Amino acid sequence: MPDIHISPHGDVIISLPHQGDFPARFLVSSTALCTASPVFAAMLSPSSSFSEAVSLRSHNAIGNDLYVQNLSDDDPVALAVVLNAMHFQSLKVPRKVSVRQLMQLAIVCDKYNCAAVVKQWVALWVDGWTKSTVLSTQLQRLFIAWVFDVEEEFEFLTHALVSKIAFAFENDEALVGGEKKKKVCGLVKSNEGKREWFTCQLGEYAPSVVLDAMIKQRETAVRGILRVCKATLDKYSTPQVQCCHRSKTEQCDYTILAFLFKAFKNMGIMDFDHTAVADLSLERLVKDLGDIKIKHVTSEGTKEAKHSETCDPVKQMLLDLAVVMKEIVPLRLESFGRAEPAMSWETWEMALGVGVSRQT
Ligand SMILES: [Zn+2]
Repeated sequence: MPDIHISPHGDVIISLPHQGDFPARFLVSSTALCTASPVFAAMLSPSSSFSEAVSLRSHNAIGNDLYVQNLSDDDPVALAVVLNAMHFQSLKVPRKVSVRQLMQLAIVCDKYNCAAVVKQWVALWVDGWTKSTVLSTQLQRLFIAWVFDVEEEFEFLTHALVSKIAFAFENDEALVGGEKKKKVCGLVKSNEGKREWFTCQLGEYAPSVVLDAMIKQRETAVRGILRVCKATLDKYSTPQVQCCHRSKTEQCDYTILAFLFKAFKNMGIMDFDHTAVADLSLERLVKDLGDIKIKHVTSEGTKEAKHSETCDPVKQMLLDLAVVMKEIVPLRLESFGRAEPAMSWETWEMALGVGVSRQT
């Protein structure tokens, strides 16, 4: 494959091996790369003491063939697009990309810390995105939203994904709060009574600061949920008769208590300890609690009790759980020092000392 001349007067060849027999080679300007990316600056700038930079300088001093900088593991198309953007080759930047392609661009921009060079196209790339509920898409979009500062998408996704985080304890990989935990997000699907992981590692898509903030929200919500469970049990344990269905006898309260106790016991939450439900997502936990059926023995046998809205213990519990879930707030890029606003005309005026802005 012939060299691709991105900068006709380039001084460096970026070489990337890929599946073909020949590497992809791009002729670029080291100045453009160093200006756009601190990672390339560390590699190539004259003031850098990195081995690549030192060898570039000694190479130039001798003045023979161009210095070749080998890269590895980058997507060649995404790298080509980003390198062109760094050289203001606007027409070489695609206007339409799929989520998968945008993911590749995000990986390259994240690696070389140069998302700003493609900033102007981000709105175009995510144009037409509708809210996705597909987990794999959500995870990719979370990474894209983080790298390219897509605020609305980031807020929507962090909020949606908090309810899906659960932990697997097999093959421990990461440390969270001093404990070994593999960060997994997804619903635990019940398959004929057997728990099955619907796994994907959130940590691969969310930077650790974001993941930690999401885990913290999850933990607060789990504690809130357990408080609601305990309060429900306490309510039916008081001497006053709670249930007003049928003839307001204690009988119903006893039945409710027994069913709740049994259900909580089976879910492992009778100690109201949040670590006991580490392997359940909030979504799953709330669903399991909502699925509790209170049954009564009647002359026709056991059947689900017909409680009115106000005295149905599960419905009342669900209302309180909804309040807890509502307290989960979307995370904002700003709070992670991201989404820096573009410099205004006035800031430039101040920087250049050209006085107050004149109205035209
Ligand atoms: Zn009742």
